[in-house]
Formats: sequence, structure tokens, C-alpha cells
Amino acid sequence: MRKLLFVFVTALVISSCGNEENKKTASVNQDATFNAYKERFVLHLWKQYPGWASSLGFRNYDSILVIPNQDARNGELAFCKANLDSLKSFDLNSLSDNNKTDYHLIEGQLKSTQWYINEYQSFEWNPSDYNVCGGFAEMLANHYDSLDVRLRNFYLRMKNVKAYYETAKQQIKNPTIEHTQLAIDQNIGGLSTFNEDLKEALNKSHLDAKQKEQMLARAVEATSAINDYANWLKELKNVTPRSFRLGKALYAKKFEHDIQSSYTADEIYKKALEHKADLHTKMFDITKELWSKYIPSMKIPEDKLVAIKQLIDVISVKHVQADSFQTEIEHQIPKLVNFIKEKNLIYIDPSKPLVVRKEPAYMAGVAGASISSPGPYDKNGNTYYNVGSFAGWDKARIESYLREYNYYILQILNIHEAIPGHYTQLVYSNQSPSIIKAIFGNGAMVEGWAVYTERMMLENGYGNDPSTSSGQASKEMWLMYYKWNLRSTCNTILDYGVHANNLSKEDAIHLLVNEAFQQTAEAEGKWKRLSVTQVQLCSYFTGFKEIYDFREELKKRQGASFNLKQFHENFLSYGSAPVKYIKELMARK
Ligand code: ZN
Ligand code: ZN
Repeated sequence: MRKLLFVFVTALVISSCGNEENKKTASVNQDATFNAYKERFVLHLWKQYPGWASSLGFRNYDSILVIPNQDARNGELAFCKANLDSLKSFDLNSLSDNNKTDYHLIEGQLKSTQWYINEYQSFEWNPSDYNVCGGFAEMLANHYDSLDVRLRNFYLRMKNVKAYYETAKQQIKNPTIEHTQLAIDQNIGGLSTFNEDLKEALNKSHLDAKQKEQMLARAVEATSAINDYANWLKELKNVTPRSFRLGKALYAKKFEHDIQSSYTADEIYKKALEHKADLHTKMFDITKELWSKYIPSMKIPEDKLVAIKQLIDVISVKHVQADSFQTEIEHQIPKLVNFIKEKNLIYIDPSKPLVVRKEPAYMAGVAGASISSPGPYDKNGNTYYNVGSFAGWDKARIESYLREYNYYILQILNIHEAIPGHYTQLVYSNQSPSIIKAIFGNGAMVEGWAVYTERMMLENGYGNDPSTSSGQASKEMWLMYYKWNLRSTCNTILDYGVHANNLSKEDAIHLLVNEAFQQTAEAEGKWKRLSVTQVQLCSYFTGFKEIYDFREELKKRQGASFNLKQFHENFLSYGSAPVKYIKELMARK
């Protein structure tokens, strides 16, 4: 590990707080020194984490694959300690607001890394921590450099694949059964990168026959190392597998490091329970209004949840067909853009394209739809909307999925994933002057924003019934929205329940199907996700709650001068920082 240059803060800066003028000068000096420190910090960060650098578009280390052993982790710990020491040399109070949040983000990241290595230790129990496929796949898919250059680095990077997986095997002790299976699926799923995808790229390249031959020979080695790892996992004698449940103590800490909310895990859990009850009340009100329109032949059941579920089941039958699922998404994107322009909700940069594509194999297994962004260094790269495919699904499972993502919910999904949700937020985040915020994006802010925009769009009349001229979102749309919102609310309840309160699979599925009105396929998928991730599922509700409440508070305070478009653009201009810091900065303005 290369030692960081020690940051000197002059005695002048520290001792010159006598009057306002001196204070200003001191701040300017501190900010200049801190800006220089940040630049060095980022360069050292990428040297320490070449794979992470590549994934964010800093491509100087594309040819390097780090062997994931104890030496590597010791290097990380030394890096954290050196930089935490460097941070101590700055006077936080004399930094600009922007640098204050960057300071917090760097400090949070370093402390989190220490905790992950020393306490969380997933390098022992989570075999899916080890997977090289994604990084290689990106080198073929993203056009940041000429194909020949990318292939050259692809070749160099393949050199360590065998050693990488050999080392992985040595790290693993008592892995969980769930993460073992996930590792097998994802590693096998990524094999096409070294076969079909690479061959296709080689055909398009200008490499000569000999170079192609060398590359293919190395790809065969990589493929066999991956297959070998998957087989080793399949045959692993694991008599005392670790539980996939994290336990209360580790969970509380992980929530603190990952979410960076002003609330604790316990507090958010209680808020989610309250919110669930409120949503059920609102949904029953709509159910009473719509009942005779949809089910006139039957008396409305007395049990609130039963009635809501019956109505939802009837309305969910309106859905697109499986073969037009992706095209329908493609059609909806320009409609969303037009609506936002018409209602003046937020500026959307027309020069950044959004490409809808089938989810690449190496991503399969965790989520049904996601956004892949080009990152702070790839500003001209594509933003992808990854749509899961139905390959290998039986008819019943497809129908269940399509009812879940019915006519109404599919529109809400597109708001969330694309416009003005994740995609729009990412475009703003990449324009943010702070590289630190672009790198250490806060998940709860990112997900919270996407969840916030769903409600904001409906409040402004998106999803209105074209047969009426009310301009209001239809009752059906609101009912489905509440159902959707119930999902992120229940995600929090379930994640905490499963990992900190020992909630059984049976009770989890019951909650999803009977209280969150989900289809069985969706509920099963959620259980799978709960068993291989922790805390991440809380980020939606936590971020949403913080953003929505903050907006309402500002509205009240600013009265007639409150401007929604300005609020959105202002909020996103700080980059993906934790909501609590954005609130602090906006409130002072
Ligand atoms: Zn159907
Ligand atoms: Zn999301």
C-alpha cells in the first residue's frame, strides 16, 4: 500500500480566527487544501480498488484483477487508517457546506469499510462475493475506448482469474446455503462473457489471428476456473452452515453504515408498521368506492383486507402480454418525458439516452428490473434499463408476474426505474461537481428519490382516466399505487423481521400475499432476495419518508413561494448524498 501524502494544515489557518475577514481566508484555505486532498484521495482509492474504479468508468486499471486474500484486506485497512488520520487534520466547521458533506461521506465510507472487514466478514460466509464476470462483461458492452484496447485489457485481466478463484476457495468457511446457491447461479450465468460474447467481440476486432488465439486460450482457462469454483461449491461439505439471518446486533450496525439515516433500524421499523396501517385504511376507502363498478354481483366482504385483495385481483387482470412487455416499457418512456415537461416538474436533459435492454445474464437472480448507469467518468456512456426476461418460466408463473406488473403498476415501475426516478436522478448526480458524492452514492437517497417520484407524479395527475376530464390520477391508479407503496413499506418490515426478529418464511409470505396483496411468484422472489441481502430493502421506505416529510415541511414554511420544479432540481443538485445532509444544506439556503 502506498502511503498517502500527509496533509499539512498551516499554523496560520488554525490560529487566525480573530475576526471575520481572517475567518473567511481560513475557510478558503481549508477548502482549497481539502479539495486537493479529495483529488489525491480518489486517485489512491482507485489504486486500492481497481475493479471498483473500472465499474465507475475510471479505466486506468482495467487490466488488473485483485486476488481477494488477507493481504488485500490488510491493504484496505491501512488505507482506511491513513485517510481517517488525514481527515483529522481538517477543521470540519471551517469547510464549505459542500465539503462538509464530502468529509462526512469519506469518513462514513472508511469506517464502514473497517466494519465490513472486521465485523461483517462476508468474505468467509458469502461465496457470491466472488464473481469476476460482471467486470469483464462491462468491458465488452461499454464503448468507452476502442474495442482493440478494451480486448487487450480484457486479456491482461484474465491472467489472474484462476488464482482469484483458488484464493476464494481458501477464504470460505461455513457459508450460508443461500449465498452458496446464489454464487453458483451467478457465476455460471456469467460464463457467456468468456464464450459467445467474447467470440463475437473478437470477430469485430482488428486483432490478428495469433492474438485471437491467445485470447481464446486464456478464456478457456477462465471458463474452467469458474466452472471449477461452481462445482467446488456444489460439492462443498458444509455440516454447520451459517444462518443467512444476520441477527439483531450486526443488523443495527449495518443499517447505520449503509443507510446513514437520522433514524435507527428499530425506529424505522416502527414507522413502517404505522404507515402500513394507514395505507390499508386508504385502500379500503377506495375499495368501497370502486366495488360496484368491478364486482356488482357480490356484496363487499366485511374483512377490509379480503375486500381490498378481491378488488385488486380483478383490476390486475388488465395487463400487457409477455411478448410485448419490453416494447410497452419502451413506448412509455417518451410519454413520461412529455408529462413532466407539460407539468413543469423537473428539467430532463434530452441529450442523455436511456436504452431499454434484456437483463444481462450475470445480473440475474436478485431483481426484476434495474438501471445501470455510466458513472462519473463515463458521462457519454449508455444508461441501461435492464428488464428481466421470462426465459424458462412456465405459463402460470408468467401470468402471475404480469398481473403483479399490471397495466397500472408497470407505469409506476417506469416512473421508479426511469423517469423521473432512477434515470433522472443519475443524470443529475453525474453533473454534480462533487466526485465524492458521485462515488459514494447513498442508497437510501437514491431509492428514496425513486419512491418519492411515484407519489409526486400521481399527485400531479399522472395516470388519469382519459374518459373523464378531471386531470386527476384515477382511483384505480391510486389503489395500485398504494399497493405498490405498501411493498416498500413491507420490505422494511420484512427485512428487519427476517434478519433481526427471526420471522419465519411462512409468516413472511403471509404478510406479502395477504397484507401486501402480492402474487405468489413475487412473494417467492422477495423471499429469495431477503435471504441473500440485508438492510438494502429498507432503503426505499427510509429515503422516501425522509424526502416526502422534508418537502411537506418546506412547503409549509415557504407558502406561496414554494416551487416544486425548483425543489426537485435543487434537491438533486447535491448528488447522491444522504438525505439528512441535503436537508441541512437546503434548509440553510
Ligand atoms: Zn392475464
Ligand atoms: Zn429502485
